[in-house]
Amino acid sequence: MYTTALAPIDMDAVFPQLAAFKRITTRLHPRKGSPSVDHGSVGGPLLWPTDEPWPTCDDAGLDEHPADTPMPLVPVLQLFAEDIPDLPFPEGSDVLQVLWCPFDHYPSSAPVPRLRWRRRSTIGPRLAAMPNPHPDADTRYVPDPCAIDPEQVVEYPSYDLPEEVWSQIRNTLVRVEADTGWQYDTDLAVASGIKTGGYPGWTQSPDWPICDCGIQMEHLLTIASWEFSRGDEHRWPPLENRHAMTGWNFDSPNDHPWRALQNPTGLMLGDAGGIYVFVCTSCPNRPYDHRFDCS
Ligand SMILES: [Zn+2]
Ligand SMILES: [Zn+2]
Repeated sequence: MYTTALAPIDMDAVFPQLAAFKRITTRLHPRKGSPSVDHGSVGGPLLWPTDEPWPTCDDAGLDEHPADTPMPLVPVLQLFAEDIPDLPFPEGSDVLQVLWCPFDHYPSSAPVPRLRWRRRSTIGPRLAAMPNPHPDADTRYVPDPCAIDPEQVVEYPSYDLPEEVWSQIRNTLVRVEADTGWQYDTDLAVASGIKTGGYPGWTQSPDWPICDCGIQMEHLLTIASWEFSRGDEHRWPPLENRHAMTGWNFDSPNDHPWRALQNPTGLMLGDAGGIYVFVCTSCPNRPYDHRFDCS
């Protein structure tokens, strides 16, 4: 079990202006491991019916995309309804799978996520082994298998907070930081790392997709490169892992234990950026879209 630190102040009492913006996110806390098809995972094997072809990408013609298609997609995420109760599973489904082709794709120079919603009880015979990634696959886009340990956390918007609310809370933010050392943006607002629900872990200005039906899509999940950005945040490194930070800094060698906590998946999306997946829950066919940004 991993635990996110509680804020050192009563957020509802100190920031009543933020109450309407409060959301629950589920941090997945990936850690290197050997998850099975029967467990939620990042980069682990997927529950896949043997009679369903493995998905491939034929987006040939791009500089870095080898032309000898089909290119097998790689598993990125598998989530079960019992682990993430507030994820908006379509009626009758209880498994969400995310895959992508491990190459840069137009126009964002990042992988393009693809979603599968399934019902576990109807899967039947299962694929015993996942296809190997293409030998030229960009290893920055192939997540190492990680077990997950979901934890629900309260968050508040940073980039998504309206300017008029910023101006209402600005003086209080300064006072809280002076009193506690905790900064709103980095410590109190949007949770870092791979997560579902809540606010996208933007590193740039928000860019919410609009569904063809005309409404703004919902944030379904964030695939982030890092579980926390620097290690000196007060909030996002789990309490159970703080001892491993001893002696850590950005110049620490790659085998320092802190690196495995900050970047358990080995993903590097641009310059430590993220891919954000959105869905429309109003449309029956559950359309989805994504955004990518980095610092
Ligand atoms: Zn591709
Ligand atoms: Zn829609």
